[in-house]
Amino acid sequence: MNNAELAARDLRALWHPCTQMKDHERIPPIPIRRGQGVWLEDFDGNRYIDGISSWWVNLFGHSNPHIARRIKRQVDQLEHVILAGFTHQPVVELSEQLIDITPVGLDRCFFAENGSSAVEIALKMSFHYWKNQGQPEKTVFVNLSNSYHGETLGALSVGDVDLYKRTYEPLLLRPETVPSPDCYQREPGVNWREHSELEFAHMEAILARRTNQICAVIVEPLVQCAGYMRMYDPVYLSLLREACDRYQVHLIADECAVGFGRTGTLFACEQAQVSPDFLCLAKGLTGGFLPLSAVLTTNRVYDAFYDDYPSLRAFLHSHSYTGNPLACAAALATLELFKQSDVLGANRQLAGIMAQVTEHFRDHPNIAEVRQCGMILAIEMIKDKRTRTPYPWQERRGQKVYRHGLQNQALLRPLGDVVYFMPPYVIQPTEIEHLAKVAWQGIQLATND
Ligand code: PMP
Repeated sequence: MNNAELAARDLRALWHPCTQMKDHERIPPIPIRRGQGVWLEDFDGNRYIDGISSWWVNLFGHSNPHIARRIKRQVDQLEHVILAGFTHQPVVELSEQLIDITPVGLDRCFFAENGSSAVEIALKMSFHYWKNQGQPEKTVFVNLSNSYHGETLGALSVGDVDLYKRTYEPLLLRPETVPSPDCYQREPGVNWREHSELEFAHMEAILARRTNQICAVIVEPLVQCAGYMRMYDPVYLSLLREACDRYQVHLIADECAVGFGRTGTLFACEQAQVSPDFLCLAKGLTGGFLPLSAVLTTNRVYDAFYDDYPSLRAFLHSHSYTGNPLACAAALATLELFKQSDVLGANRQLAGIMAQVTEHFRDHPNIAEVRQCGMILAIEMIKDKRTRTPYPWQERRGQKVYRHGLQNQALLRPLGDVVYFMPPYVIQPTEIEHLAKVAWQGIQLATND
């Protein structure tokens, strides 16, 4: 078997996610034979550093032996069991541990299979909580511009990335969208904190105006990942928590992408010392091995559903593979890896290296900004730095960087014109240097006309 053979078979049978399939006439899909640490190897023997953790899921490397062992052990014990009416050891242990490590006050775990479902659950639970409390008129969600929360219709509704959303607009819920505190938009001379604080006025105004109709505000804490890795200051989360309490509105923190150490703390909310009413976790939860997501919430929310059956207050939401034991075993192994060494400390060193090796990028005439939050570093390419004019999106400059990466042992998958590094935590300094070198060359190629 070689790349060409498998790619040809693939193109006869598959429809790939987030892809204009016609693009594959020029760039065939790359069949991966194996993964080891940060490296992926294809059927022709080419190797690639996974600079984006395979859509941000991988934390401790591909085929991580510790996680693999734990899953293998579980396979022989119990592969799956219905979670309604039944339970099992991995899901109980995982729930206990998630309650322990997440911000204080989150005392109940509800499981699903991916980030979008976690978001759907949080939205439904929030609405249903208010209904159970005698406030059914609370039906509106507030979101931030440029946010992303997944692709199912509810999750898509509370996102705001035009590319994914616009086509489906007639089908969607209508949230109240507030300008993002995105610090790329700050005026010269204004720092991150000041900008994020200033932007909060929009949120305050909406919360004041529609208090009685709003059930929850949903945000991606600190980094709007699919929204071109735009970042903001933790002060916004502190202000938001305080305002949500004041206006009696839930706060949903979607940490599907930023949870589990990505931003420098185990959970991004910690940087603002806030506890949300709902915390959505996915992606890194299983170290990138298996699909699993969780929604953590408070006993206060839980208690509003707890009643005699005929009251019909129960949360009757389910997915077939909810709390799958294999996925829970992968998650438990991932949490063990966090306990076995000082992962966050080691990440600080790696993040420092990511900053160092991209220091000179700032002076490039077509780079508007290099921004970083922990183990996420993003480089914004721009047509005119002085006027802040972006390239026309149709030119697909980012794709040139992608192609250059593939020819040079690097999987970089820019978001529009934003090249970013979001590598597994086991990346070595020399591998970070390599990513930076390839990104620099790719950016030169993509911007030299
Ligand atoms: N929320 C956020 C913040 C995400 O980044 C994503 C995925 N990129 C999702 C939700 C959706 O997760 P999934 O793709 O697992 O449905």
